[in-house]
Amino acid sequence: MKSAESKPANKAEMLSSELQLIKKTLLEQKSEILNKSQDFKKNQISSVKAADEVDAVVQNLQDNLVIQLHERDQMSLLLIDKALSKFSSGTYGQCEGCEDEIGMKRLQARPLACLCIACMEEQESPRNLLQ
Ligand SMILES: [Zn+2]
Repeated sequence: MKSAESKPANKAEMLSSELQLIKKTLLEQKSEILNKSQDFKKNQISSVKAADEVDAVVQNLQDNLVIQLHERDQMSLLLIDKALSKFSSGTYGQCEGCEDEIGMKRLQARPLACLCIACMEEQESPRNLLQ
């Protein structure tokens, strides 16, 4: 029988309270997006019927907008999953460029950040874009 006071089994359970909060936020964002995609699928089915041609055009524009938003959500979902998998592997908060710590303030502002500010600036600098 396991004691209730047993030590955390792995790194993921030893997260600081700040990281736990970020993880919680990510999980909430994820379920929000998943709920939205379910709505999206429902809308896809119900939007098939358009009364006339004008309606069809309007419907089409609306559908395109919804699809664009949906694609953006899918992208966020991928990034959220990536961040969550880093929690499991214990590499969350580590810069993908230089492997330094990204920094709690930056993570709290941008939980999906995978580069530290220095690496991000380097990546976004115009000189780099020209290379
Ligand atoms: Zn870095």
